[in-house]
Amino acid sequence: MESTNKPGINEIADRIVNAIMEHRLPPGIKLAEEKLASAFGVSRTKIRQALTRLAKDGLVRLTPNRGAFVASPTVQEALDLFAVRRLLEPEVIRNTVERAGKAEIDRLNQHLKLEAEARARQDRRAIIKLSGEFHMLLAEVSGNSFISKMMAELCPLTCLIIALYDSPQTPACPEDEHSKIVEAITAKDSDKAIELMLHHLNHVEKELNLGGHSKPDIDWDQMFG
Ligand SMILES: [Zn+2]
Repeated sequence: MESTNKPGINEIADRIVNAIMEHRLPPGIKLAEEKLASAFGVSRTKIRQALTRLAKDGLVRLTPNRGAFVASPTVQEALDLFAVRRLLEPEVIRNTVERAGKAEIDRLNQHLKLEAEARARQDRRAIIKLSGEFHMLLAEVSGNSFISKMMAELCPLTCLIIALYDSPQTPACPEDEHSKIVEAITAKDSDKAIELMLHHLNHVEKELNLGGHSKPDIDWDQMFG
């Protein structure tokens, strides 16, 4: 840590979530308090509080006497998660079509532009993160704060599942399916937008496989220092 501003618990938790969403921290990896404390330049107590928060969101597994690990959801949990998203996201679309005005549509298009730019420069980390954030943004503009909260929890978990079960060459969300959804929302075609969203979620789920995953060497100081 070169900065004298020590990060707070929220910032620490957010940066760990980002690293998970960007597939830099793979499922199952140990989150050693002392390594993180040294990388962030904070006390172990602060790290423990951040990890406890992440455990509540299901992203981190706390094991007595063994410490904290990035969660590694099972195949069944992966299937359950997609089932929940198929329930929630049609409602997100319905609300968005009803409530979204020009400002909201502009925000969605702005996000699509960021995704396209990330694809153009083949920035896989950014693509995965932005793909997840697209669904969180949709939930936010839909105006249902409960769904928005649930999606903020489910999207990082989805990234984790994709990290665990996807082949490294496959992006989180297939290209241009997001733009088609936004086009249908802009045209106020609720049925079509819902159909596209369900097709999209099925598509992402189908890309999952049960292959193994490797655990890379992680330079904690470089990642968070
Ligand atoms: Zn998507």
